[in-house]
Amino acid sequence: MPPTIGTALIDHSLRVSAASAEFAGLLGIPAEQLPGLDARSLLPAARPDLVTLLAAALAGGEPILDIVVETPPADGRRWLLSLHPLRSQAGVTLGVDLTLQPYDGRPASEPARADPHQAGGPFRAIFEQADIGIVLARPSGELVAANPGFCAIVGYEPEELRQLRLRDLAHPDDRNLDSDQLARLRLNEHAPTVEQRYIRKDGGVVWVRLTRSLVRGPGGETPFELTLVQHISDYKHAAELARQAAGRNERLQALSAALSRALTPEAVASVVIQIGLDALGATAGTVMQIDPDGATLSVLAVSGLDEAVRQRWAKFPLALATPLSDAARRGEPVWLENLAARARIYPHLARETPYTQERAWAALPLALNQHVLGALGLVFDRSCDFDAEERAFLSTVAALCAQALERARLTAAERAALAAADEALALLDTVIDSAPIGLAFLDLDFRYRRINTTLARINGLPAAEHIGRRAVELHPQIAPLWERYWQQVIETGEPIIGLELDGLALGISTYVLVDYYPVRGAGGELLGVGIIVQDISGRKAAEQERLQLLERERAAREAEEAARARAEEAVRLRDAFLSVAAHELKTPLTALIGQAQLLRRRLSQAGTLEEANERSIAIVVDQAQRLNQLINDLLDGARLDSGQLLVTRSPLDLGRLLRRVVDEQRQGLVRHSIDVEIGGEPLIVAGDNTRLEQVLQNLLSNAVKYSPNGGSILVRAYAAGGCAVLSVRDQGIGIDPEAIPRLFERFYRAPSAERAGVGGVGVGLYVVREIVRQHGGTIDVESANSAGSIFTVTLPLAS
Ligand code: ADP
Repeated sequence: MPPTIGTALIDHSLRVSAASAEFAGLLGIPAEQLPGLDARSLLPAARPDLVTLLAAALAGGEPILDIVVETPPADGRRWLLSLHPLRSQAGVTLGVDLTLQPYDGRPASEPARADPHQAGGPFRAIFEQADIGIVLARPSGELVAANPGFCAIVGYEPEELRQLRLRDLAHPDDRNLDSDQLARLRLNEHAPTVEQRYIRKDGGVVWVRLTRSLVRGPGGETPFELTLVQHISDYKHAAELARQAAGRNERLQALSAALSRALTPEAVASVVIQIGLDALGATAGTVMQIDPDGATLSVLAVSGLDEAVRQRWAKFPLALATPLSDAARRGEPVWLENLAARARIYPHLARETPYTQERAWAALPLALNQHVLGALGLVFDRSCDFDAEERAFLSTVAALCAQALERARLTAAERAALAAADEALALLDTVIDSAPIGLAFLDLDFRYRRINTTLARINGLPAAEHIGRRAVELHPQIAPLWERYWQQVIETGEPIIGLELDGLALGISTYVLVDYYPVRGAGGELLGVGIIVQDISGRKAAEQERLQLLERERAAREAEEAARARAEEAVRLRDAFLSVAAHELKTPLTALIGQAQLLRRRLSQAGTLEEANERSIAIVVDQAQRLNQLINDLLDGARLDSGQLLVTRSPLDLGRLLRRVVDEQRQGLVRHSIDVEIGGEPLIVAGDNTRLEQVLQNLLSNAVKYSPNGGSILVRAYAAGGCAVLSVRDQGIGIDPEAIPRLFERFYRAPSAERAGVGGVGVGLYVVREIVRQHGGTIDVESANSAGSIFTVTLPLAS
């Protein structure tokens, strides 16, 4: 049900010169009594000041909008009263158009606030899809955001627009047209809409209507101007035509004025019908619109038709053959001058409703830029010729109606966009307050003007306790430090980014990462300091933990290194001791052996060497030589560790060396036999004679030593794969398998050796392996328990 809007025209003498039936109905005054009535008697109880307002509108020429009428006379609802001065072509104020429209309780200039939590979606959609340009700018004129609708109007890309100010787009002649609007806006006054020309990017000129409002920040500051930009070139063009027509016919001017105030399509339709009826003396009229499906026509407003006809034609297919649907479909008016014409062209309609009294019909398309929105129909209770002037008049009415319908649609979008902008700000406020980072704004006295919940929590005080108070009052210990930073921001105008501060002074164990930045007003003047605070306690704790772990790891590593150094030092001391001790032992030992041999020779020369004495001397020499060998081994081991065991290599025949060593070893063997097998050719290797001799001696003496029950020992030497292979096999105690991998370690002795009670210190094989290695060879051992052992040495053959 479209709201009823009442309209009356008030003249300079403050009397009603004309009024609509709705107006009469609203006031409860019979329509015929209205013309000539003193305006004072229109709303005596509700608005005793009506006459003053009318006089102001007549004098000032500016509309007075949306005055609330609290105690309506007729139906107990509330209304908004608006006064629009009507001007002639020459700019003379002819009178005031007074309209009453329903009022739902909200000020028209302040759109409804919806629940901010629901707001994000609709606003974006409206901003993106609105058929109207929406621009958000800073008071300095810089564009912050422009929607696709605006880009389409001015033909710029959004990025290009960001470099421009709205004013840059204005036609040079129109550049100051909006200065009054802006000035009023800044003074917080109602700013009337402005119509002016913009220059498109392609150089074309477009007419726009600018509606401006300030979008206030939550604290009442005015950070943005919201400008709604309607493309009105078509409308301007039509209005131009209308103005010409109005010159011929004042009614069109009134129509145009009335239409410009009709906010809904239904209001537009009823205004148009009323004018059609009044101007041409029609008895009935209807305005129909093409439905979104494009297939049907639906009634927007109707007047003067009886109920049955109204219902029959409230909605019908566009394809049906009727004057209205034909006019809408073809974009051409249909004129039926009389019943006969109707019977001829629409015989089915004539049969359906055969009238007796003469009638005429006019049906006109409502078209905007070739786009048909619907149709206007008028019914006359007489035959009509529809002369050229009437046809032109009705065509103009239809054109104005189409424009007004379109504008009404845009106005709805405009209101929705304003409402959505408001919702978006409310939403922004909610979001900021609940953001996980702390935010605050301080004025130049360092008083908190705004603070969100997060920062208030970090500060340890409710948000409300901050507002209007200086930081030093709230946090006397720590705020002086903060103030130094803020002072710096104010003095330099430069932000301080990424400060790490410890909140301990606030009595809370919080680490925060802080940004301070200058906040400027529209004119660039400093207003205060903005604060962004992030709680990084979690990160700090993790960092601390990592540091502690690193520290512990370092301590452990140091302890380990110290232990190793101590062990190395102990080994070094031991080796030094061994080496000194060995040297000290060797001197008396050499003397001992020498003296024993001398004694044997003297006794032998004197012929007094008895057999028992000779055996004793032999044992002394033998044991002293074993002791000497042991000392040599120990010395070698110590040399080896200190890198002093060196070999000097020259070609030698391994076979010959082997025979010599075996011959020496054989002497004195009683329970052991040694067999030698040497492969044909000479086995020449580049080797150190003494050291290789030491290797052979060692392997052979071990073979003897670890065969305590005697047995045969087989020594083989042969060439294979470019190497001389030398093996020593015994039939002794053998080696436990688990001992084999460690056999060549220094001081290692196999458990089998201990079990068999064979003495030793575990250095011989250690030295042997090193000598073999230094010759570029390898040494291996195989053993099956109690089946003896085979030691195999390979040395590369000299080429
Ligand atoms: P030592 O004989 O002084 O103990 P070696 O370095 O010469 O030291 O030998 C290391 C160990 O290897 C010996 O203690 C012994 O257990 C084992 N071993 C060496 N040769 C033989 C062998 N022919 N038969 C059995 N065990 C052996």
